[in-house]
Amino acid sequence: MKKVKKMVVGNWKMNPQTLLEAKKLALAVKLSTRLMRKTQIVFCPPIVYVSPLAPVATNNFILGCQDAFYEPSGSFTGEVSVTQLHQFKVGFVIVGHSERRKKGETEETITKKVKATVAQGLTAIVCVGEDKRDASGEYLGHIKDQILSALKDTTKKYVDHIVIAYEPVWAVGGAKAMGSREVHEMAIFIRKVLRDLYGVAGDSIRILYGGAVNPTNAPEIISSGFIQGLLVGRESLKAKSFVDIIKSVDALPL
Ligand code: PEP
Repeated sequence: MKKVKKMVVGNWKMNPQTLLEAKKLALAVKLSTRLMRKTQIVFCPPIVYVSPLAPVATNNFILGCQDAFYEPSGSFTGEVSVTQLHQFKVGFVIVGHSERRKKGETEETITKKVKATVAQGLTAIVCVGEDKRDASGEYLGHIKDQILSALKDTTKKYVDHIVIAYEPVWAVGGAKAMGSREVHEMAIFIRKVLRDLYGVAGDSIRILYGGAVNPTNAPEIISSGFIQGLLVGRESLKAKSFVDIIKSVDALPL
């Protein structure tokens, strides 16, 4: 399999409450990780902090967004386009997070957002995951459908601009992460879906795990899960915890 740089994404959700806190958090993480070169770090603050935090971003401490609209401009009240984000050094956009799907984000919209993101030269972090598991394995078909639908209009030439974040919905914001063995099984399954779709070119696509990751479980999930990174919610709001998670990823061989 092709070697790709591992990554850790921090999804700040609707936090913190002030720009001052946001700056402190970003600077603290940046300072403590400045020598970690093996791992790409992406931080996704609320949209309102993107512009003021742009000067903090570097080539390896990259700004991301939690969502972006697919049209470049026009009468779309409340939306922010990928094109607009581009000017603030935003490199990544989370698309189809389960918390947005719950609020009505459709598969069709997700397809358009992925296409618009990669077309602008940004990378789409496509979130997929099942609500619950069933003994007959129907959840696997659900994950496959989510991936194929999200990437429907995105051709092979954009594989370097796609990341898949597998996030079982029951683990996101929950108390317990998925076991590393199950993470590994899902990684194998998702890799096969990507191979079938894009051939070996699909090996450039990084597969992340997200859902209740913390500094204690991160080393086991990343090493035995055989994934290429982590998507971290709550623990990315605590500088020390987030840095410890990044350290466990950076400690692995490339
Ligand atoms: C997330 O927001 O994608 C997430 C995984 O959250 P948490 O780490 O808090 O479960």
